[in-house]
Amino acid sequence: MSQYLYHCEECKKEFTHQQHMSGDDKSEVICPYCGSKQVHQLLAAFSAVTSKKS
Ligand SMILES: [Zn+2]
Repeated sequence: MSQYLYHCEECKKEFTHQQHMSGDDKSEVICPYCGSKQVHQLLAAFSAVTSKKS
């Protein structure tokens, strides 16, 4: 599964959205905080961010 980072223009918050690899990449992404559709993608597949292994 792929995670994408989005930024909401309405409440200025950032959130992640999990997108399934089933070809439905045209599904709308809405902000989980305010329900706005005014969001844009910041990063795609940023799974490397939390890959620190000590
Ligand atoms: Zn929002």
